[in-house]
Amino acid sequence: MTNVETLTEILPYQDAALPIPERVADLLGRMTIEEKVGQMLQLDAREDLDDHVLGKHVGSILHTAPERIVRANELTAQTRLRIPLLVAEDCIHGHSFWEGATIYPTQLGMAASWDADLLERVARATAVEVSATGVHWTFSPVLCIARDLRWGRVNETFGEDPFLIGELASAMVRGYQGKGLTDPTAILATAKHFAGYSETQGGRDASEADISRRKLRSWFLPPFERVAREGCRTFMLGYQSMDGVPITVNDWLLSEVLRGEWGYTGTLITDWDNVGRMVWEQKVQPDHTHAAAAAVKAGNDMVMTTPGFFEGALDAVQRGLLDEGAFDAAVARILTLKFELGLFEDPRLPSAELDTLVGTAAHAELNLEAARRSIVLLENDGVLPLSATHPTRVTVVGPLADDAQTQLGDWAGGSGQAGWLDGQPREMITTILDGIRQVAGGDWTVTHAQGAEILTQAPNPEGSHFPDGQPRPPVIVAAAADEQLIAAAVADAEQADVVVAVVGDRIELVGEGRSTATLELVGGQNALIDALIATGKPVVVVLLASKPLVLPASVDKAAAVIWAANPGMQGGRALAEIISGAVEPSGRLPISFARHVGQQPTYYNQLRGQHGDRYADLTQSPAWAFGEGRSYTTVEYGDLEIEETALAASDTIVAHVTVLNTGARPVRETVQVYVRDAVTSVSWTDKELKAYQQVQLAPGESARVRLELPVADCTIVDAAGHRVVEAGEFELLVGPSSRDEVLLAARFVVES
Ligand code: BGC
Repeated sequence: MTNVETLTEILPYQDAALPIPERVADLLGRMTIEEKVGQMLQLDAREDLDDHVLGKHVGSILHTAPERIVRANELTAQTRLRIPLLVAEDCIHGHSFWEGATIYPTQLGMAASWDADLLERVARATAVEVSATGVHWTFSPVLCIARDLRWGRVNETFGEDPFLIGELASAMVRGYQGKGLTDPTAILATAKHFAGYSETQGGRDASEADISRRKLRSWFLPPFERVAREGCRTFMLGYQSMDGVPITVNDWLLSEVLRGEWGYTGTLITDWDNVGRMVWEQKVQPDHTHAAAAAVKAGNDMVMTTPGFFEGALDAVQRGLLDEGAFDAAVARILTLKFELGLFEDPRLPSAELDTLVGTAAHAELNLEAARRSIVLLENDGVLPLSATHPTRVTVVGPLADDAQTQLGDWAGGSGQAGWLDGQPREMITTILDGIRQVAGGDWTVTHAQGAEILTQAPNPEGSHFPDGQPRPPVIVAAAADEQLIAAAVADAEQADVVVAVVGDRIELVGEGRSTATLELVGGQNALIDALIATGKPVVVVLLASKPLVLPASVDKAAAVIWAANPGMQGGRALAEIISGAVEPSGRLPISFARHVGQQPTYYNQLRGQHGDRYADLTQSPAWAFGEGRSYTTVEYGDLEIEETALAASDTIVAHVTVLNTGARPVRETVQVYVRDAVTSVSWTDKELKAYQQVQLAPGESARVRLELPVADCTIVDAAGHRVVEAGEFELLVGPSSRDEVLLAARFVVES
């Protein structure tokens, strides 16, 4: 066997002039079985990096503190074949764990913009920052459909609608991957979590998903199919089992559907220790040998953070469970990515000009634009926008008004997934209190009171770590309402013209393994809101919450309600600009809000058919529905017309609707187009979003908006699991949200 010293001549795989398939074949032919198994492994760079690279021959690392990227590269230079590493990270709304990077609103926040172009620009800017730091691969975007709001990962999604998810996800993939992998600023995108992970039981993270193949094809798979066909280079699995089969070994989904039907040639990575979990958590494999063999046979290319895969896979070969050639297809795919990125020629180490590329003023400006577009005005009795000209006393109340790291949400410096940083620089973050002070200038008097505590943490009685060594989240203890804090806030409120109350959730209630049993505000926050409303002063409730939460009944008397999600570093500035009227609110909900946790699920596109339409003790109608969001003006829709109402399956529906700004302020209106199939061969949702357009209208301006929709998009999934257009009557529904009351309808017929 050649050793490192003898590799002085240029071998075929090192020759950049040769076609990539030839280089891959040459390199594969030189690799030992240990090197091939190692190439399929991605391990945690916070652990023993030397052993990962020199002992286990890993193909990839993740969670790499800046200085360890350089160290990892030094180590690969000592290996026999000098195969470069793929460096991966969860850069899901900005370069999450790089100190000083730009952190944007969460994916759910940005989804409220309904603006694919904006998300593409955010992903592009993120790729510029990420690639400059020596990271080649982001585990983003998340294509899971939000179903049960108790799930801790709702904030990572684009919300509840498959069409909107597909639009926004494919935009982010384009942004990350840029003009192609040879572009030094391109990074690999990951469509995750393939597929069905979000169909939790009771919102519990990674529980068995009760989901049929037809249900997958109906709602969960379409966004993935779209990005697969559009060239998203990697896919990551979820965690759940379906019908008893862990996703890691779901041959039907991985081989028949993804690789077969969709012809996907990209790389498939497991989620965190999926292979090990089949042994210690799901208990469907007796040991790592069998688990590794099953994972390889099912078509996984890269195995995330199961160190035991290395010995397990080698043992599987020894014991005849796997052929020696079993790893070649996976290794070839991984090597192809490395060659395409040009890593053999340039390992893309951290740039010497990091300061000019990361956290730049231009990215802060883009971030501000994203935050402005992500904020959703849910209620307004006219108090907003606040008058910029009259002297106003504003009191900014609440535990989240000035909490910089919480504002960034999950997968950010302070969220705890990476050990090497403890939050992002405070001076890069504009909190809501900062933002209001900035826009106030000298004209308003701004005071601040905390008003409430949210929570404390107690040790988990089950122990501090899970069996795999991962930390177990501590137990959350809700803080009691604090009379003194409330009294101080009320005293401030009584002196004020307007109260801005900033409430919501905190990172301890958000994320993996942190689903919530309730959706109410935790701690003293409800008591604070009740007390503020009782002052009779106009209260603007700002919900700084990772996901839709349930507000107390007193909020019915609030002057305005705003959902800001986790709005990122510029969130406070954007919010202040909106409440002061410098910027028009334009966000629309990508997800419905429940009135009560017991209403779950609340997504708008549920199947038709149940006895009645309400609970004995509560309506089923959500507090705020998918698509809703107000502006500072009023908009009327009229004269919906379809040009040709008798159509063949190959035709395109062409419709026109008039949208009129009847108020005194400009608007960016999101014209939403839903389709209702009158009678379907199997039960189906009553309406589905199929298209939308954003139009800008000055006060008094109207537009005749042309809408086009291929009949081929008016599909259902039939009993056999085929996506088909069924002939018959349909309605095109057009309006400002998914609520029936506000949608205009026009009939059309698809002829057989
Ligand atoms: C999450 C993934 C993430 C991975 C690496 C997993 O626990 O489910 O979304 O990409 O960890 O951090």
